[in-house]
Amino acid sequence: MKKPRKNENAAEPGLFGAGLPSRPSGGEIPVPQFESPRLKKKSTGLLSFSYSKMSLYEECPLKYKFKYIDKIKEEPKYYFAFGNSIHHAMEFLYAVKAPPFPGMDELLEAFKKDWGLKSYLEKGYKDPLRAEEDYQKGLEMLKNYYRRHEGRFKLPFLLEYSTEVEVDGLLVRIIADKIEYQGKGEIVLVDYKTGKDVKRQPDQLHMYQKICELDPRLRERVDSVYGEKVSGVRIKQMLYYHVPTLKEYTFDRAEDAEIGVFWERVLGVADKIRGLKYDPTPGERQCAWCDYKKLCPHYYGGRNQCAAPAPSAADPVEELVDRYGGLREKMDELNAQIEDVKAKIISFADGADSLGGKKYTVGIGRKEMWKFSNREAVIGVLNEFDLYRKALDLTLKNIVLLMNDPAVPEPAREKLRRQAEKSHVFDLQLKKNY
Ligand code: SF4
Repeated sequence: MKKPRKNENAAEPGLFGAGLPSRPSGGEIPVPQFESPRLKKKSTGLLSFSYSKMSLYEECPLKYKFKYIDKIKEEPKYYFAFGNSIHHAMEFLYAVKAPPFPGMDELLEAFKKDWGLKSYLEKGYKDPLRAEEDYQKGLEMLKNYYRRHEGRFKLPFLLEYSTEVEVDGLLVRIIADKIEYQGKGEIVLVDYKTGKDVKRQPDQLHMYQKICELDPRLRERVDSVYGEKVSGVRIKQMLYYHVPTLKEYTFDRAEDAEIGVFWERVLGVADKIRGLKYDPTPGERQCAWCDYKKLCPHYYGGRNQCAAPAPSAADPVEELVDRYGGLREKMDELNAQIEDVKAKIISFADGADSLGGKKYTVGIGRKEMWKFSNREAVIGVLNEFDLYRKALDLTLKNIVLLMNDPAVPEPAREKLRRQAEKSHVFDLQLKKNY
């Protein structure tokens, strides 16, 4: 693949569709441009694969296992939430059957609506002010984008195109933000980037090229949208559109030999996954950003402190014991968090029987608890009023019964009460709101 060409002049007219072949004229455009995420049913025996799965496995196989095999969810990431809302707005802008395109206000509204679907915590922000900053930044980005391209929006060939292709025992999934058709079976894939900067991601480029060119559905779509029968679809370019700076970065089609080398690597990774090889590869970068560090026995909590696994074959018992220990630690930590949140809820209860959130309601139960610290003094009261036999046994429960028994003389009950310390225990019963 040739070196990337950085296009600093993203404002050129018709960037999203310049020189595109025209759609059939007269009458309605034959297909909607928005591709619903309808996926082909998984066939038995195929390994479900994608560019992100491969990247994660190559970063650390154990991290891959935590995420895709054990299905332990990662923490929400604010930068994904931000990117998703921008993508959603872009999708809204172009998902029309025919012009006119939505106005700027509608575009901003689409962003706002998507942004509002989750709280700042659910989006992965720690601080609401930081979330608000990003929200304002997103609005500004979209306004700039709209102004830059206003009057030149073009209908794309496909939007949010999601497909799965069977190849070499794999079921490989890709999702393309936008696809432009250039005629004669050639397409340009557009990927919106919202991070600080744009880096060439050769693996993504190679994976998308390989899969798009194998995908029979793309050929059919060219025929149905443009009425052009093509023997195959070929990637002309991949275009990264950096929304914050409105700059475009284009990458030419990779040579077939380059794709061949890449595909060997893909098959190597797939073989290791099928062979259940999940040996960790700790390192400063991958461990620092890993959500599973608390579960992982190969992470010791600090930079440069990751222990590489022993070179000998993994001992399954050791692995299970360590995993058990890691999970227990995580559980202890979660229990501590639960107790902390419970105490905060109780501090707000103020006599209420239940408190509601958006998704859950907690019923608040209260029970009295008694404690007698001075055992000798209690025995003294029992002897003084000849209650020892009545108590049957010197248990906490029996003493509390005596204290509340109207048949016991009031002076005795009063003396017992003076020895008693009362507290309340709260019990929260959780119910999901429907
Ligand atoms: S903490 Fe490090 S070694 Fe452990 S799973 Fe994460 S990246 Fe891998």
